[in-house]
Amino acid sequence: MTDNFEIKKQILDKIKQYDRIIITRHFRPDGDAIGSTKGLARMLKLSFPQKEVYVLNEDSSDYLAFLGGEDEPIDDEKYADALVIVCDTATTDRISNKKYSLGKELVKIDHHIDVKPYGDLSWVEDERSSLCEMIVDFWLTFKDELTLDKEGATCIFTGMVTDSGRFRFSSVDGDTMRRAGALLDLGINTEWIYANLNLDDFNVFKFESYVYKKMKVTQNGVAYIYVDKAMQKRFKLTNEQASNVVSYLDSIKGAIVWLAFIQNVDGNIRVRLRSRFTTINALAEKYGGGGHDMACGATVHSKKEMKQMIVDADEIVKNYKHDNTGWL
Ligand code: AMP
Repeated sequence: MTDNFEIKKQILDKIKQYDRIIITRHFRPDGDAIGSTKGLARMLKLSFPQKEVYVLNEDSSDYLAFLGGEDEPIDDEKYADALVIVCDTATTDRISNKKYSLGKELVKIDHHIDVKPYGDLSWVEDERSSLCEMIVDFWLTFKDELTLDKEGATCIFTGMVTDSGRFRFSSVDGDTMRRAGALLDLGINTEWIYANLNLDDFNVFKFESYVYKKMKVTQNGVAYIYVDKAMQKRFKLTNEQASNVVSYLDSIKGAIVWLAFIQNVDGNIRVRLRSRFTTINALAEKYGGGGHDMACGATVHSKKEMKQMIVDADEIVKNYKHDNTGWL
């Protein structure tokens, strides 16, 4: 793996050139998008107290509210001499802050496959388990110039934990753990973080037991569930709680691909795709989505399309099992 020192240095130099830095992420943020933007902002504020640093997005989210909120919008003209840093967002159409293009220069920092490169500077390491891991690397590389504290480390650690499936995904390597260790050394309260991440309302557990009754597994091993709006209403679920359903499907022997279909308020169906052993991102891309090899997303627009996607997934698993041994 390359060290990527040059691009990190260029990004740091670029940050130093600007008095105003605007940080954004993808819409419908996950823990990595939230943790990386907040953690980076905190690091830049501590390291360069004279600079204006904002986290500005157009969609708000209650998810991970324990890490604090984001900033209020600023006047459009303030973008003109600002550096915009986009975190965790593979393509420009997924950037939450649509005013990103008003900025003077654009920096992309990401760990998704670089399908459509953008930005005046772009640092992408698609083999990393989280972008937050790269933010720690950035800090450690320039530790003489960059300051991180417990507050920033808490955001970044939370992003690492959530995006790596609690450090279980195959993308977790020695670097991941060493970087997490550097955050632990700052005295973060992991018991508090895990309590915030893991505890849920009683209705969510009732929903979980209902899902176990309703989920299905195809002939070759695709587990799936469809959570429509009525189900979300019945169990009084937030969109985030409904979306977590994907994690209920992940431990069935032989089901090496699992798909969660969650109906959005607008009637479209969000798909969360996950797999082990085999990759699944080509299927997400076929349906206009993307993401990582084994954790990706897409949107389908009808139950018919949903059914076709399940058939396609089943075919992928069938072929994988035909060509490989050793899957559980
Ligand atoms: P999710 O299931 O929403 O957690 O998404 C898993 C990964 O796929 C994340 O890294 C997302 O950024 C990415 N992803 C989700 N939905 C899409 C989409 N429609 N297009 C491109 N990437 C996506």
